[in-house]
Amino acid sequence: MPRDLISLACGECKRRNYTTTKNKKTHQEKLEVAKYCRYCRKHTAHKEGKV
Ligand SMILES: [Zn+2]
Repeated sequence: MPRDLISLACGECKRRNYTTTKNKKTHQEKLEVAKYCRYCRKHTAHKEGKV
C-alpha cells in the first residue's frame, strides 16, 4: 500500500515546514492543518503540497 510523501506548507509565507505521508487512495482531499510556523511565529493553516 503506497504512502506518498507530502509536504505541509504555510499558507501565509509558503514555506514548507513539515513533511508527512498519506495514502492518496484513502485521503483524496487536500490536507489542511493548523501548525506552528516558525517563520510567521504563529499557528497558520498549512496545506498539502509537493515535497
Ligand atoms: Zn509561515
